Amino acid sequence: MFKKVLIANRGEIAVRVIRCLRDMNIQSVAVFSDADRDSLHVRWADQAVHLPGNTAQETYLQGELILKAAKRCGADAIHPGYGFLSEQTEFSKRCAEEGITFIGPNAFAVDQMGDKVTARAVMKAAGVPVVPGGEWDDIDLGSAKVEAKKIGFPVMLKAAAGGGGKGMRLVREENQFESAFSQAQSEALGAFGDSRVYLEKYLERPRHIEVQVASDKLGTHIHLGERECSIQRRHQKVIEEAPSPAVNGELRKRLGAIAVQAAKAVNYDSVGTVEFLMDEQGDVYFLEMNTRLQVEHPVTEWITGLDLVRMQIEIAAGLPLSVAQDDVRFVGHSVECRIYAEDPQHKFRPSPGLITFLSTPSGPGVRDDSGVYQGYEVPIYYDPMISKLSTWGATREESIARMIRALDEYKIGGIAHNVEFHLRLLRHADFQAGALNTSFIDEHPELFSTNDCDHNEQVAVIAAAIKTFRDKTSSAIAFSTDQPATSEWKSAARREAARGTH
Ligand code: ADP
Repeated sequence: MFKKVLIANRGEIAVRVIRCLRDMNIQSVAVFSDADRDSLHVRWADQAVHLPGNTAQETYLQGELILKAAKRCGADAIHPGYGFLSEQTEFSKRCAEEGITFIGPNAFAVDQMGDKVTARAVMKAAGVPVVPGGEWDDIDLGSAKVEAKKIGFPVMLKAAAGGGGKGMRLVREENQFESAFSQAQSEALGAFGDSRVYLEKYLERPRHIEVQVASDKLGTHIHLGERECSIQRRHQKVIEEAPSPAVNGELRKRLGAIAVQAAKAVNYDSVGTVEFLMDEQGDVYFLEMNTRLQVEHPVTEWITGLDLVRMQIEIAAGLPLSVAQDDVRFVGHSVECRIYAEDPQHKFRPSPGLITFLSTPSGPGVRDDSGVYQGYEVPIYYDPMISKLSTWGATREESIARMIRALDEYKIGGIAHNVEFHLRLLRHADFQAGALNTSFIDEHPELFSTNDCDHNEQVAVIAAAIKTFRDKTSSAIAFSTDQPATSEWKSAARREAARGTH
C-alpha cells in the first residue's frame, strides 16, 4: 500500500480524500494556491506545498509543478480528485514516467472515453444503445446539416471534447442550424482547444441516470447501482439520489450489465461512471463515461456501505476488488444537495466572500462533505460549491424528510447560498412524487418566487424579532433613567447582602 499520497485538488474533495487516507493510515500532502492558503484541505493534510498564483491554470492545472512537489515530499501516488487533472492523460502518463502512481484509470481508457465521439463509436461497436446521432471525426457544415435532417429536429450540437455541462447547443429549427453550427465550433475551440462538434437527437425532458462501476487491474468489473441526477441547472447537477425512483430491479440489472460492458470495452481499471439518458418512453441510451470519481459518489456510498475513495486507492495499488458483484447490497435511499455560494434570486450569480457564521447539520443519516468553516473566505477563483449535504433513510420519503430537516439546520452567514432553493425543490410535490426530468427547474418557475409561505414566514419572524428587541431596549432605557441596569441575580444577591445573610 502507498505510504504517502499527494492530492492534486482543493476544497471538499481534497478533504474527502484526506479523510480516507487517514482511515487507511496513509500520509497526505496537500497543494494550495495563494487564495487557498487558509483552506480546510491545507489545515488537515500532513504536509502542504504552495503553488504560486491564484487561477486554476497557474496552480491546480500545473502538472509539472505538482509532480515536482510529489517527488520532493516523497509521495508515491497522486490522487487527482475530480476536474483539474483528473482526466488528462498527459498528466497520468507523466506520473508513470516519474514512478508515481496516478490514482485513476489507465490512459487508454481515459482517451477512449474522454473523447465523446470516440466513446460513442466504441459503445456502438460494443452493442450499447447510444443517443441517436452521428459520430464523425470532423464534420463540415453541409454534411452536418444533412445528418441533422436525418436525425430530425430538435438536435443537440455538442463539443467532442466537452464536459461540465459546457459546449452544448440546442437547435430546434433547421433555419437556425447554420449559425448554431459555426457558433458551436468556435465555442468548442475557445473552451476546450478543439473545434470538433458532433450531433445528437435532442431528447425532450429526459431523466439522467448513471451507473457507478468499479474495475480492478485483474480484469474484474462490477457495478454499484445507479444514481438519478435529473435535477439540473444548465446541464449541471444540483440534486442527486440513489436509487432512482424510475429504475426497478430488472432495469437495474440491465443498466448494470451495459455499464460493465462499457467498462470492459476499454479495459477500465478504476472507479468510474457510465451515464445514460432515459426518454419519456422509458428507453435508455448511453450518454458518456466519466473516468474519475464523481462529485455525487456519497449517495452510492450511503446505500452500498462502501468507501469509493478507498476502493479507488486499493485498485491503484493493484489489489483485487474488495467485493464481488453478488456481495453488493443496496440498502435504503440517499439524496445529495450541492450547497453553493451563489444567489438563486439573482440568476445564481456566484457569491464569494467571508463566511461570518456557520452551523452545519448532523444527526442520524446526515453527512456533510464540506470544504469550508466559519471565518473562511470563499475565493472568487474556483467553482463556488462549498459542500455536499447527503442524507440516508430506509425509504425515499425518509431520506427526503431528513434532508429537509438537515437543510433547516444549515445556517450560513455572510454569503448568499442556495439552501432555501434546495428546500423548495425538496418540498415540491413533483419532486416528492419522483416526477423528475432534466428540465424540472426550468419548468417550475415557482421555485424562484419570493411571494410564498416561506418568505411570509421569514418576514413574520424578522418582524417579531424587531418588536421583541424594541420592547426590550425601550424598557432598558426606561429603567436606566431611574437606576443603573443590574441583573435580577445581582440585585437579589445585594438585597440578601444588605440583610446581612449569606
Ligand atoms: P457533460 O460532459 O458536459 O456533463 P453530458 O453529455 O454528460 O455533458 O450531458 C450533460 C447533460 O446535458 C445531461 O445530463 C442532459 O441534461 C443534457 N443533455 C446532453 N445530451 C442531451 C441530449 N441529446 N438530449 C437532451 N439532453 C441532453
